[in-house]
Amino acid sequence: MQSSLKFKDLGSDFFAQVHTQKLENSSLIHINESLRQELSIKANEIELLSICSGEKPLANESPISTVYAGHQFGYFVPQLGDGRSCLIGEIDGLELSLKGAGTSPFSRGADGRAVLRSSIREYLCSIAMQGLNIPTTRALALVNSTSQVYREHVENAAIVTRVAESHIRFGHFEYFASQGHNENVKKLADFVIKYHMVELEQGDYLGLFKQVIESTSIMIARWQAQGFSHGVMNTDNMSILGLTIDYGPFSFMETYDPAFICNHSDTQGRYSFERQPSVALWNLQRLAGALESLIQEDQLKDALSTYEKILVKEYSYLMRSKFGLILQDEGDNNLINNFLDLLYTQKKDYHRSMRMLLNQNENLLGDNFKSWLKDYKKRMNKEENLTQSLNLMKQFNPKYILRNYLAEVAIREAEDLQKYEEIDILFRLLEKPFDNHLDYESYDSEPPDWAKNLELSCSS
Ligand code: AMP
Ligand code: MG
Repeated sequence: MQSSLKFKDLGSDFFAQVHTQKLENSSLIHINESLRQELSIKANEIELLSICSGEKPLANESPISTVYAGHQFGYFVPQLGDGRSCLIGEIDGLELSLKGAGTSPFSRGADGRAVLRSSIREYLCSIAMQGLNIPTTRALALVNSTSQVYREHVENAAIVTRVAESHIRFGHFEYFASQGHNENVKKLADFVIKYHMVELEQGDYLGLFKQVIESTSIMIARWQAQGFSHGVMNTDNMSILGLTIDYGPFSFMETYDPAFICNHSDTQGRYSFERQPSVALWNLQRLAGALESLIQEDQLKDALSTYEKILVKEYSYLMRSKFGLILQDEGDNNLINNFLDLLYTQKKDYHRSMRMLLNQNENLLGDNFKSWLKDYKKRMNKEENLTQSLNLMKQFNPKYILRNYLAEVAIREAEDLQKYEEIDILFRLLEKPFDNHLDYESYDSEPPDWAKNLELSCSS
């Protein structure tokens, strides 16, 4: 059911009305069919294209871009905002947002566009994360065009239609708090509680903060267990609902390395893989700062002290499941950590190695793993139901991961040949990454030589 954008209830301090800017020769290159059905969108492809390219409004709603601030790489930027995205409407309580539909008052001199390459990556990663049970914004459609935009070189502009219950970020709170507009901090908190945390009573701001801590820690635990690196964990890229949001130079870990940095522009490694849990806590501390007018300092501190416990509990559950460990044994943590150490020293692929354990072809791991495998077998013999263990492993160790080279093949085909078949293949594999897709066995391979050093930057 279509309804008007609830976000507009907040009033004009929170957003600006915008006009989407037309793309040249726009074309719909992929639709997320199951999401389209979930939203009961009846529009035919021509109508859908006109909505998802920003040419026609959704149910006469006028688009808005919202204002937020954020800590970027540790430094506070007092005003950011949706510089290239806008909310175009709401269906069944889900906001639809166009990323790349033109400038807004928050574009800060940039062009308001998104390039095809990064739009393909965001589109595919949204489905990959959903397939992996990691909370994420979703993507309904991918639109290409012949409009030209300038990054390191000239590229085609594209638009991803994002879908989420809310696109509110930590930075939305920081924006009003930093200006001393505490009445708007309260208004925003009331709004989040009323519409997005319905089990809380109005005015339960501490409850709100606790929920953000919980959902964020669960999200991060799942990133860590599935080897996901976000790359730009600024507070403006942290969702108040604990959704993974704003896909840029993200990367799934391939060769296991805790110090892995996916963002080429992150020269200090602030957002390296192993730092993600502590960065998220740092970001939550910034949110706490923005909520000081609503919640007492000691309560904020107490709430923050639960973060690590929730994260460790979820991470441990996920990792134990990946190894098929159902019973508790005191040596389990060591067993898991020793395996990860071996993956690191032996430069092994994280996901493929886990699948070797699952498929019981662990001899492929090589001689260095022999002694560890002996320990693992001994441990598995303690399990009462091996079939149950294997089933668990199947549910937690994906066969298909959005490897950079796979995305790159799809991108090159789209950019050079205007062909989009690879996008469709990857979409289907990543939607169900734990299944064996028999005709696509090779899509779980490690990167070919040409793709070993692909570099990803913030440019998008
Ligand atoms: P991001 O790194 O994509 O999360 O963007 C950081 C900030 O820059 C956000 O406020 C974006 O809206 C804005 N931004 C990024 N790229 C563009 C662009 N091409 N045009 C306008 N604003 C942009
Ligand atoms: Mg962002």
